[in-house]
Amino acid sequence: MKKNISIADSSSNTAFPKHIVPFDFEASKLRIDQLREQDDLQGLIFQCGQAIIMASRKNLPQYPDALDIISRTLLIGFEEIDIEPIMLLLRAYPNARALIESYLNRLLAEEDRPSRPLLVAMMNIRVNRFGFLVMPKGEKIHFVDFLGMPYPLGQNGRPHINTVWIEATNHCNQKCSFCPDPKRESPRELTDLEKFKKRARDLHTSFDIGYWQLNAYGEPLLHPNLGEMIHFLRSELQSPAPVYFTTHGLTLTQPRIKKLLKALPNEVMISLHNDSEDSYAISRSEKIGDYQLLTDRVFDFCSALMEDSCPCSVRLSVLVNNAYASRQVGQDILNAFSDNPERFIALVSYWQERLRSWANQNHVQIGFPPLDKGQIAEIFNNASHGPDNIIVIAQWQTPSGPKSIFISPRPVGTYANLVPFQHDPDSVIGFEAASFGCGFTREPSLTIFANGRLGICCLDLETTASFGHADDEDTLQKSLKSEACNTMFANLAFGISDCGGCLICLGKVNPPSNLADKNDLGNTSTVPLVANMKEVA
Ligand code: SF4
Ligand code: SF4
Repeated sequence: MKKNISIADSSSNTAFPKHIVPFDFEASKLRIDQLREQDDLQGLIFQCGQAIIMASRKNLPQYPDALDIISRTLLIGFEEIDIEPIMLLLRAYPNARALIESYLNRLLAEEDRPSRPLLVAMMNIRVNRFGFLVMPKGEKIHFVDFLGMPYPLGQNGRPHINTVWIEATNHCNQKCSFCPDPKRESPRELTDLEKFKKRARDLHTSFDIGYWQLNAYGEPLLHPNLGEMIHFLRSELQSPAPVYFTTHGLTLTQPRIKKLLKALPNEVMISLHNDSEDSYAISRSEKIGDYQLLTDRVFDFCSALMEDSCPCSVRLSVLVNNAYASRQVGQDILNAFSDNPERFIALVSYWQERLRSWANQNHVQIGFPPLDKGQIAEIFNNASHGPDNIIVIAQWQTPSGPKSIFISPRPVGTYANLVPFQHDPDSVIGFEAASFGCGFTREPSLTIFANGRLGICCLDLETTASFGHADDEDTLQKSLKSEACNTMFANLAFGISDCGGCLICLGKVNPPSNLADKNDLGNTSTVPLVANMKEVA
C-alpha cells in the first residue's frame, strides 16, 4: 500500500499565511529503500502479525500508542509488503506493543541475525499511532495511516471519541478580559436543534463516546433549545456518556433554572472565576451584572439542586494565579486572582458556609465535608490545567449515585495566551514542525462547532483547524474516516499545521505589531505558546 502524502491537507478557510514546506515523498522512499535492502522484511512482518494475533487472544488491556512498533516495521518496507491487513489488525488490537517489542528484543538477542541493523533501526524510530516521524539524523519522514480513523477502538469494539463538543452556540453575552471570544470575527450562530439531533444520533450509533460537552466557546444557556438537547441525549438516546456544559453563571436566571431542572445534565461547570468585586471588575464586564448578582445566581442554582436532591453536580471553576499561571497574561489580569492559598481557602469556606446556612434554615439534608486547610492549600499550589483538582463542599445522594458541589481551581492563562495573536496574522512565524504536538491528539476528541465545522479541540475560536463540515457527508462516520481527518490528526500529533489557530498554539509568534510597543505581554521577544486546555463561558 502506497500513499502520497500532503502535509496538512487542511480544509480550513484561514486567512493566515501558509508556511508549511511540502512533504518530500521521493526523499522518504530513498531512505526506506536503503533499509529494505538489508533483510527479508516479508518474513519479519509475517511473524509480527502472528505476534499481534496472539496478543489479541490474550485480551490484553487497551494500549493507546500500541501502533508504533509494527509501524516501524512497515516504515521500512511498506512498498513491497501488503500492510493493509497488518494495519487493520493493529487498529483492532491496539494492545500489542509490549508483546511485539519483546519479540523484537528476542530477535535482537540472536547474535548472528542478519536483520540486526534493521531491528536496531526499528527500535530507535519515533512514531505515534497516527503515522511516523523519524529523526535518525535530523531527517523527518512522515507517513500517515489512511486505512482507518484516528479514534482508537473502545471497550465495545467501536471507535472511542474521548469528548464530543457540540457547540450549542458561539454567542456569549459576557466579555472577559482573558478570553479571545469578544474579538471573534466569524458570525455568531446557533446550532439547529434538528441538526443537533441527527449528528448526536449518528455519533451515538457508531461510536463509543466518553463525554458530551454542549459548548466550546459561547454561553450555552443562550440557546433556546438547550434543555431539548440535554433531554435528547439523556432520555431519547439514553446515551451512557455523561453530559456536561459550562456557563459563565450570570445566565442562571430563575426562569432558566426552572427550565433546566426539567432536563439536567450530569454536571454543570460554572465559571465563577472570581472571589471578590475587585477581581470581577478587573477581569469581566459588569454590563450584564456585577459580582454580587453572579454569586446570587450561582447560589440560587446550587440551592435549587440541593433542595430536590437533583442528579446533577456543580463544578465551581475558580481562576488562580499560582505557579502554573501563564506569564503571557498581562500582570493586571493576573493580579485579579488569588496568588496565595489563604485567599483561596477563604473563598472555599465562604461558599461552603453560604450553602450550609441555607440548608440548615430550610432543613434540607445535605452533607458538608470538613475542610482540610492544608489539603486545600496543596490543591491550590498544584492546580494545573486538568479536571482533577477539586474540593467537595456539599454532597447528597441520588438514585443515580452521589452528587456534589465542588470547587476547582485553575491557573490563569489556559487560553488567554491566544488573545493578542488571534487577529494579527503578522505575529505568526512559519515553522515546519513544532517540537511538541497538539495535546488534543493524545485522546482524540471531536468538536462540532456552532457553524457546523468539524475540529478536534475546543480552543480554535475561528474554526480554522477544521477537517470539514458536519454536512459534507451523509454520516459523521464518513467524515471521521476521511483522509482530511486522518491527516489533521497525524500532522498535529507532530506539531505540523497551517491552520491559523494551530499556528498560534504550536508555533512561535511575535508579539502583534500593535502590542509590541505597549509591551502588554510583558515580553516582546518571540515566545513559544502552548495551549492544551481551556475553560469557557
Ligand atoms: S493546535 Fe491548538 S487550535 Fe490546533 S487543534 Fe490543537 S489545540 Fe486546537
Ligand atoms: S470566558 Fe466564557 S464568558 Fe467569558 S467571554 Fe469567553 S466565552 Fe464568554
